[in-house]
Amino acid sequence: MLRTRGIAQGLHSPLVGRVTRDPFNSAPHHFLLTEGTPDVDVLGFGAVLSTTLAVPASLRMPIVYGIMSLHHLEEGDLVSLDTSGSINTQYRVNSQHNFLLATERCNSNCLMCSQPPKDRDDVPYLMHIHRQLLPLIPKSCPELGITGGEPTLLGEQFFELLALCKEHLPTTELHCLTNGRTFANRRFAERLGELELTQLMLGIPLYADHYQLHDYIVQASGAFDQTVRGLHNLAYANQRVEIRIVLHKLSVPRLVKLAHFIYKNLPFVEHVTFMGLENTGYTPHNIEKLWIDPADYVEELTEAVEFLAAFRIHVSIYNHQLCILPPSLWQFARQSISDWKNIYLDACSGCTVQSQCGGFFASCGNRHSQYIKPITIQHSIESSLVLN
Ligand code: SF4
Repeated sequence: MLRTRGIAQGLHSPLVGRVTRDPFNSAPHHFLLTEGTPDVDVLGFGAVLSTTLAVPASLRMPIVYGIMSLHHLEEGDLVSLDTSGSINTQYRVNSQHNFLLATERCNSNCLMCSQPPKDRDDVPYLMHIHRQLLPLIPKSCPELGITGGEPTLLGEQFFELLALCKEHLPTTELHCLTNGRTFANRRFAERLGELELTQLMLGIPLYADHYQLHDYIVQASGAFDQTVRGLHNLAYANQRVEIRIVLHKLSVPRLVKLAHFIYKNLPFVEHVTFMGLENTGYTPHNIEKLWIDPADYVEELTEAVEFLAAFRIHVSIYNHQLCILPPSLWQFARQSISDWKNIYLDACSGCTVQSQCGGFFASCGNRHSQYIKPITIQHSIESSLVLN
């Protein structure tokens, strides 16, 4: 989430609005962006965001001023303003990677968590934001993520959040990342089914076919049992499920067995994704346990992907570079890294498939395969038959 801050004046509770640079586009939910000093002409706006260093104390409306820069905001983006003066971009009109943060709390503590949990009761604040935000998101929004932390820890408010999504964004694909453990409670899964959210996909991680390894990776005893029971309850409640497998030194050795486990025990899953490691959050702290050059697990990845695909299970490979995958796997590779954290290396210059390659997380540092090598025109032509 993009953040900036300034000095708040006249803000008594968090506000959400749509930014505009047009001084004639006033409306209660429009926040005017300006470089100048606001005056009475701005009273029709819900708030003003300004880079100016001083504003008239007599102006009785929400204002955040003294902001270093507003350049990251595009016309129509949705932002929240805090009483502390922080400005969080909640929805970017020109991005395909928008999401709602449900909570930063989690009941797991995965070794490679990219957004380590925080144990604070953030639900009242975040729900206050989402209740304002959801009616403002364009109805044409194609996809919206719901993430955490663990969204199901919202309990009753998890259903309220989803019901708001259904009410305001009836045609938007919703993709909710959850560890699935709460759905071990059959009634919780049934409650979700009762919402009849056909556009909802639940992305649930499963890291091994054996409880001890999965529980170790997620640092939660009993998690494997709860997640697998949750998956079955979700199938019973007619919910769409995607399995997400992060590839690292601990999950790779049982990867092929895990693919067989999914086929035998979870045949109802709609999608299986194999994901490259993101070097952020807890991962740098556990890097010696986790890091393996992706080139060194291509054999296991190929076998697992081809096994599932042979049984017509929809498979994707996320966060991987085409030059380390054999051309036979290119058809499964997706450009999955969110636009604001997606980079390419100097080593990529001149590569003929860069526009189709997933590239790297900006946080990767030097934790990337040692086998990155631009793909030549000839190689690209030979492989083009297998690209989507
Ligand atoms: S050289 Fe770079 S752009 Fe080309 S396939 Fe490899 S990682 Fe992707």
